[in-house]
Amino acid sequence: MKELVLPLPDEAATVELGAALAQACDRASVIYLYGDLGAGKTTFSRGFLQALGHQGNVKSPTYTLVEPYALEPLSVYHFDLYRLADPEELEFMGIRDYFAQNAICLVEWPQQGAGVLPAPDLALHLSYQDQGREARLDALSDYGSQLIDRIHR
Ligand code: ADP
Ligand code: MG
Repeated sequence: MKELVLPLPDEAATVELGAALAQACDRASVIYLYGDLGAGKTTFSRGFLQALGHQGNVKSPTYTLVEPYALEPLSVYHFDLYRLADPEELEFMGIRDYFAQNAICLVEWPQQGAGVLPAPDLALHLSYQDQGREARLDALSDYGSQLIDRIHR
């Protein structure tokens, strides 16, 4: 499967990557966001959401686990599973309904939901690189490969 590595020298680059993927994403999809605390997962999500017209700030839904955004053409569900104690909690919150929607799901800390979350189309791995970050995008479905093609200008 396709992979793309991009340097993200500053915060603006992380926001732009989110925006580029949002622009490319034209159907329901699941994107996993990996990286240590402060790596830029929420910054990426903000770029993604604002590119689809969300105004205002975006914070990790650390305590509520998910924040819904009714946007066009697709709704976005932004998950942060950092504080999830047990993947079974996801069943109680009706996780399958979220993923059955015609929506884009961005998931921070997907490791925490292993076994319950659906498989992703794309996994973004953010890591610290000098003063900035490095992004690695891994396609995990044919649609994920298409998304990488679309943003790889
Ligand atoms: P996470 O959700 O992964 O815990 P956040 O996005 O909340 O991380 O925080 C990331 C922090 O790093 C923010 O302070 C943001 O300004 C900064 N940041 C994001 N992307 C970059 C980058 N490419 N280079 C340097 N700093 C960045
Ligand atoms: Mg976060």
